[in-house]
Amino acid sequence: MQTLSGDHIAAWIERAADALEREKTYLTELDAAIGDSDHGVNMARGFTAVRARLDTLDRGDVGALLKGVGTILLSTVGGASGPLYGTLFRDAGQKVAGAAAVDLAALTGCLEAGLEGVRRRGKASPGEKTMVDALVPAVDALKAALGAPQPDGADDGGAPLAAALARAADAAKAGAEATVPLIARKGRASYLGERSAGHQDPGATSCWLLLRSLAATAGA
Ligand code: ADP
Ligand code: MG
Repeated sequence: MQTLSGDHIAAWIERAADALEREKTYLTELDAAIGDSDHGVNMARGFTAVRARLDTLDRGDVGALLKGVGTILLSTVGGASGPLYGTLFRDAGQKVAGAAAVDLAALTGCLEAGLEGVRRRGKASPGEKTMVDALVPAVDALKAALGAPQPDGADDGGAPLAAALARAADAAKAGAEATVPLIARKGRASYLGERSAGHQDPGATSCWLLLRSLAATAGA
């Protein structure tokens, strides 16, 4: 698979909704340590709502589909992360408006646009213990994969996109884990000041889960 179509994006949403439902308690435990214990519930509610409304969205246009997902997330996730994830998907969709499918280059541009939207809206820089700390290394991993030479004889068309997404998911996981020692500077966790150190950021962790689901969808 060298490109993702609207059907693949829809399959990703289904997989992500399952993963977030499965990891709801874990995300909520992370948020209990430095927030208000709602991140798992917020994310599961949002992606379950998107899944329920997938059939109302246009799968022929990946940009419109991603924007539609973002709009539903905006109105269903809630908390600080709702508007941020909404912006992430809407800005990512805007970047590929009209595309029937996206290749690695388009997908990289998409995620980068989504990250820029999150940064514009949330004003967080890397190192402030937020979802930005997972997204930045993920985008960097995609860019690195894009610049890497394609292996000779890669004729199954599957490896490059799935492998790049797997690397992006791994980078997001490492980024999320690297939030543990950080002191939160943005969002609710920042109220704790130094007491926020020693815990993994819930939003960075949900970003990793989403990217892991995307990589699994591309590899399936
Ligand atoms: P709330 O904090 O309102 O309860 P959630 O618990 O759903 O919302 O989400 C918390 C997550 O949102 C944090 O773990 C962090 O990753 C992310 N977040 C909060 N504020 C910002 C911000 N300004 N920029 C980027 N991400 C943020
Ligand atoms: Mg919370």
